Formats: sequence, C-alpha cells, structure tokens
Amino acid sequence: MLDRLVHLQETDERIVAFQKEEEKIPRDLEEKEHDLEDLQENRDKARAAQEELQKQVSELTREVEEVRDHQRRCQARGLAVKTQREYQAVQRESEIAKKRRSELEGQIKELLEEKNLLEESLLETESRIEDRLETLEKQRSDADQRLRRIRTEREDLEKTREVEASLIQPDLLAKYQKVFERYKGKGVVRVTSGVCNGCFMTIPPQLYNQVLAQGGIHQCPNCGRIIYVDRA
Ligand SMILES: [Zn+2]
Repeated sequence: MLDRLVHLQETDERIVAFQKEEEKIPRDLEEKEHDLEDLQENRDKARAAQEELQKQVSELTREVEEVRDHQRRCQARGLAVKTQREYQAVQRESEIAKKRRSELEGQIKELLEEKNLLEESLLETESRIEDRLETLEKQRSDADQRLRRIRTEREDLEKTREVEASLIQPDLLAKYQKVFERYKGKGVVRVTSGVCNGCFMTIPPQLYNQVLAQGGIHQCPNCGRIIYVDRA
C-alpha cells in the first residue's frame, strides 16, 4: 500500500512540476512584453523630447533671422548717417545686435548637440525594439507550443494518477492528500536514522520501532506526513 502511495506521490510531483511550468511560461512571456513596453515608452518620450528641442531650435532660428534683419537695417542706416552722434548710435545698436546674435547661435548649437545625442539613443532604442519584436514573435509561438505539449503530458499523467489513486485505500489517500496539499508536496516521506525527511525532527523511538516493523500506516507526530522506511 505504501509503495503505491510513494508511486502516486511521484506522479503527483510530476503533475505539480508541470503545473508550475504552465504558470511560469506565460509569466515569463509577460515579463518580456513588459520590457518591450518599457522600451516603447522610452522611445515615445525621447521622440517627444526631440520634437520639443526642434521647436526651440526653430524659435531661436527665427529670432536670429530677426536680428539679422535688424543688422542689415543698421548697416543701411550707417551708410546714411550725417553726424558723429548718429554714427555712434548706429554703431552701438549694431554691437548689441551682434552680441545677441552670437548668444542665440550659441544656444542653437547647444540644442542641436543635445538633439544629436538624443537622436543616437533614439536610433539605438528603435533597433532594440525591432529586435525584441522579432524575438518576441518567436518566443510567443515557442511558448505556445511548449504549453500545449506540457498540458497534454499533464493530462495524461492525471489519467495515470486516477488509476493509481483508485488502488489506494480511501482513508489513506485522504490523509496523504491533506498533507500533500498542506506542504505543496511531500505527503509521504522516508524516515532515515529515525529522522522524518519532511520536517527533519526525530521520530519518537516507540513510533520509530512501529514504522520499522512495517505494519500499518504512521504519521510523523510533528508534521503529520505519512512516514515509511526503506525495506532492508
Ligand atoms: Zn515530520
């Protein structure tokens, strides 16, 4: 009876392993999808930042154009001045315009550098997204195949389990199932050198002797698992 139970447990453990895998596969895939979404989000942010930079550059460029017009006008007025004072006034205005223009051009240069850096990282992100999309496609179909295979195997095992379970006394089966579920496995464990292999507590000598005598079903008084010894 105990042999059958140990056998059943092996089947149960395999079923549990399959179930875990069945849960893990979609979880892994979801994680990968999240990574991709993060990348896409980064890309969108970078694009928006790039557009913002471009807007600033256009605005500054327009300002430069205005200053340039002003400079032209100053030049024209410079040709027509009659007095020293007028000449100095035009001269001063030209100086201010020149300074302003070089300030603006400096700002534009900085913004363009920033934009170039952003462009580089954007291209990199885009190529990573493309790679991920491609691999994800494959990962999805692989995961799908694996899931289907595992599901079939588990269902086969469950049928085997039904047969195995039917060969075990119902009360023993119920006891075993209770502890198996409580501990998520290991409902029936071997005792080695008087120690329960489920909770690693020492079995009281009297009970240990009963287990050694291999008559009846015994449970570890500490963890409740069904205990057995290997036949000599
Ligand atoms: Zn125990």
